[in-house]
Amino acid sequence: MKTISHLAIKLCGHSAVLLLLLTFLISCASVPVTERKGLHLVPDSEIATMSYDEYNKVLKKSKLSTDTAKVNMVRRVGQRIAAASEELLRESGRGADITNYKWEFNLIEDDKTVNAWCMPGGKIAVYTGLLPITQDDNGLAVVMSHEVSHAIAKHGNERMSQGLLAQLGAVGLSLALSTSPGVTSDIFMQAYGAGTQVGFLLPYSRIHEAEADHIGLILMAKAGYDPHGAIALWQRMSAKGGSRSPEFLSTHPAPESRIRNIEAEIPEAMKYYKARR
Ligand SMILES: [Zn+2]
Repeated sequence: MKTISHLAIKLCGHSAVLLLLLTFLISCASVPVTERKGLHLVPDSEIATMSYDEYNKVLKKSKLSTDTAKVNMVRRVGQRIAAASEELLRESGRGADITNYKWEFNLIEDDKTVNAWCMPGGKIAVYTGLLPITQDDNGLAVVMSHEVSHAIAKHGNERMSQGLLAQLGAVGLSLALSTSPGVTSDIFMQAYGAGTQVGFLLPYSRIHEAEADHIGLILMAKAGYDPHGAIALWQRMSAKGGSRSPEFLSTHPAPESRIRNIEAEIPEAMKYYKARR
């Protein structure tokens, strides 16, 4: 991509339009399941590397759970969802993407934090405060599938790309990406740096949330978890709201509207669930 951007700059020193067109042509990829086109300007490998560094910092600062049963549950569910994700990517012609994920699942000992997240590249954290709400493997699969879906739909790349575009404009962006890679790491830190340290990430857009719910249902079904469990899980999460809202709720749309959409998507997910049985 950098080579093409360079070429574009040389070709059209006086034609920002052509450059803009080229930038978009080479950086729009579609999202699995929904096939929506997203703007992905930053190389995924670059984001993954930044993600691994940040994830390791979080792990160093956090107290990891030593409850073997709970840790095993997080890894068991996570591995099944990761395998289903790779299957989905392969089946939809995105097999080359799989190298961008180095799956890792950790349970952070923090009973007050009702949350879980997956950074780009497949680095996942679950907080012990989430487990009373997820209750069992199926409930945990709902939340982890949702988070993994943000990663395989490359919502982080899209958010970074939008941030870069807003700050620099198309021409400035092409120049910045080809001459000063530090720009992308600044944007990455804005999106993920501070958030992971305090247990939340910046909220995704409503489009991203709806998409993560939809893909998440299919992932959990492919992994062998009943997608109907999603309704009960989000109802339990919603009931936990009130005086002290779970972190997860503060960065996500109201459960009521999500539940309606999820109900409409369950029949599609059930096809994958039945195909496995
Ligand atoms: Zn989400």
